[in-house]
Amino acid sequence: SGNLYDLFASRFAANGAAACLILEDGAVISYAKLADDVGRLASLLVGRGVTPGDRVMAQAPKSAAYLMLYLATLKAGGVFVPLNSAYTSAEMDYFRADAEPALFVDQPEALLAEASKQRPLGQSVAREAQDIAVLIYTSGTTGQPKGAMLSHGALATNALGLIDAWAFTPDDVLLHALPVFHAHGLLIATHCALLTGSAMLWLAKFDVDAVLGQLGRATVMMGVPTFYTRLLAEPRFTRSAAMNVRVFISGSAPLLDATFETFEERTGKRILERYGMSESMVIASNPLTGERLAGTVGYAVAGTEIRVDCAEGDAGPIQIRGPSVFSGYWRKPDKTAEDMTADGFFVTGDVGELDADGCLRISGRAKDLIISGGYNVYPKEVELALDAMEGIEESAVIGVPHPDFGEAVVALAIGRGDEAEVLAHLRERLARFKCPKRIIFVDELPRNAMGKVQKNLLRTAYVDCLA
Ligand code: ATP
Ligand code: MG
Repeated sequence: SGNLYDLFASRFAANGAAACLILEDGAVISYAKLADDVGRLASLLVGRGVTPGDRVMAQAPKSAAYLMLYLATLKAGGVFVPLNSAYTSAEMDYFRADAEPALFVDQPEALLAEASKQRPLGQSVAREAQDIAVLIYTSGTTGQPKGAMLSHGALATNALGLIDAWAFTPDDVLLHALPVFHAHGLLIATHCALLTGSAMLWLAKFDVDAVLGQLGRATVMMGVPTFYTRLLAEPRFTRSAAMNVRVFISGSAPLLDATFETFEERTGKRILERYGMSESMVIASNPLTGERLAGTVGYAVAGTEIRVDCAEGDAGPIQIRGPSVFSGYWRKPDKTAEDMTADGFFVTGDVGELDADGCLRISGRAKDLIISGGYNVYPKEVELALDAMEGIEESAVIGVPHPDFGEAVVALAIGRGDEAEVLAHLRERLARFKCPKRIIFVDELPRNAMGKVQKNLLRTAYVDCLA
């Protein structure tokens, strides 16, 4: 059948004794044990009345049982709905009303204990490639989170492309410190391991000590940019600490050039940056062999077409098409239609540039574009100019309401410097309309769990900063 779980099982079954999860206390869960527990949990779900297409919603800490619950939901033909553990009960009311789950799980371990009395479900519930496997809510960076419907086929296509692009083998050991309520940790990372039968060092969260303790056993690490900046802040993260890892992969938020460069100086390795989103998993990736360029996210992954809607060499809306792309927003047909072009491309909401070879550079989000006095200002361009300055670590450029210009450019910067001097420096490098009206020095930028800078919060906080 087209059930994604069967695809995984067909790959890892060949070596059931191999480790699937290596837990922080040293306990190892083999693939055979995983399959057995998933089978019992799937029986339990079916017994609890989960029928094909029913949503199974989970809001729970990361654990082995959590991963098993996800896989059991697939096997039972249900639709898994992971939710950020930070959501409050008021926020959860919204998600429960929107997704209408048949089952809500906050303690996967309790369910697993109960499932020990079950007989494992033999055959998985049959699913077609186009049937929905996962309903994943977007991060809510630009507005209310939207439920993205991902089919068994879309997830399979993307994962098969990634194990090929990143050359996963059964000998790989993936350091997994990402949260499991987001596409990066739950779908992109685990699928690469499950499809190749490789092991995952299953860390409850990103903790520098825990990561440094395990890194020597890992061959691949996947993370968000803040993982890498936090590692670099630690003197114990040395060339020899990173030696065993064949590739460090970064995604979910932009990787600063400075992080890429410092990482290479420290470890001799170049971080492999890739670009993705809840609606399509990984879209573009820098090459495993070949030049990895700071500030770019590389080339379209197998099965995904990328185009930028503008003249060649300019920045414009990034659009994608192909079998990895989602099936639409859950119960939002109007929003889905609005984001689709007549020829079947999905409008990602990101803006970028594609060079003649097909290498993609992301300029930012369309919603963050600033229109000041009728001119378009791409925040990224101003941020790059700021970040290149001595004394400035990182910056976030936003538009705030302005009586004459409509919007005015304002920069928040981490670091130190003299506002007037920084402005004078920028005026030599950027057209006047792109120059910030103010540079405000701050200690930190607001970020969500995936390390994404929350510009919507900055826009609200600094709405009156020019008054
Ligand atoms: P929402 O859609 O609810 O506003 P979101 O877009 O942040 O939230 P996700 O699906 O988690 O939700 O994130 C996808 C977005 O993350 C992409 O559209 C892009 O803006 C950003 N992103 C992912 N990888 C990269 C990267 N390597 N460089 C720059 N941006 C990235
Ligand atoms: Mg989005």
